[in-house]
Amino acid sequence: MQGGTGADGLAKGNRRTGEVYRATERWSTVAKAADAQKVTARKPKLGQNFLVDDGAMQSIVDALGDISEATVVEIGPGRAAITSLLARRAARLIAIEVDRVLAAQLRMKFATQPNVDVLEADILQVDLGTVLGATPGPLRDLRPTGRHKAQVVGNLPYYITSEILLKLFAASERIEQIVVMVQKEVADRVAAAPGSRDYGLLSATAQMYGSVTKLFELGPGAFDPPPDVRSAVFRMVMHPRFTELAVDEKGFLGFLKVLFAQKRKTVSNNLKAAYDKAVAAEALKEAEVAATARAETLPLEAMARLYRALRPQEK
Ligand code: SAM
Repeated sequence: MQGGTGADGLAKGNRRTGEVYRATERWSTVAKAADAQKVTARKPKLGQNFLVDDGAMQSIVDALGDISEATVVEIGPGRAAITSLLARRAARLIAIEVDRVLAAQLRMKFATQPNVDVLEADILQVDLGTVLGATPGPLRDLRPTGRHKAQVVGNLPYYITSEILLKLFAASERIEQIVVMVQKEVADRVAAAPGSRDYGLLSATAQMYGSVTKLFELGPGAFDPPPDVRSAVFRMVMHPRFTELAVDEKGFLGFLKVLFAQKRKTVSNNLKAAYDKAVAAEALKEAEVAATARAETLPLEAMARLYRALRPQEK
């Protein structure tokens, strides 16, 4: 009953206090059970290399800039290394963790922070339209308001890095920026410029969705347990380029796969797999791309010209 008697108010107060007490009790029970059964031990299959470098945690959160009015989505919060800092700064935080025990611990840890929502879910199965958008869904009122796009952050589980990035790219209209830790080689490829050794399909695909800056690298010692690889954090400010380059998203992404199908081959040779030889030669001429060029030397503008020349009906 709203605005009831003193007795009612007391009962509500007790219920609230009781709720916090029970939450704390559940938290310690889960923690004890976890200790006893060692269920919080790393699950290697889930890419659980937890960040233990305080400076790196701080730098990742700082890289997001002012998030006091932002909705932040954290992928794989784990033991809350970054989450605790985010919870203090973000207007809203949605933390998505697939590990049931970790998700339960996180829910308990942030039970008294109304700006934090923990989703126990596989990020690859999550409907980002619901989480990031205005579509009605199960989330309370944590989704971004019309004024702000979401910020995405995470020390990603490396075994599904590409799948996560592709999923985020597909939702780029609803995301302002991404700040993520990945394996160093992945960061190098995502951020690579045309003509450089690391430039390839992932670079071209990512750069169709936004501009990428590699921020810093970390050695294995920054994690518990240490992974076998070096890591790096990059920031990607989303601004999809499909309209500007006059190409359709699905068709152009498929075209990039054709261009990069065999890295050592020339563009002209790779095109042979999908186009008539004479048509490809004519399109190369029209797009002013040398037949001897390799895809890894071409800027996105040249690839888009070539795509448009091969699809005259879509010009
Ligand atoms: N953010 C924590 C940190 O920096 O210490 C943990 C990072 S750890 C590299 C990756 C986290 O992603 C783990 O907590 C793991 O359980 C979680 N994870 C793995 N696969 C996932 C998935 N498919 N969906 C959501 N979370 C996942």
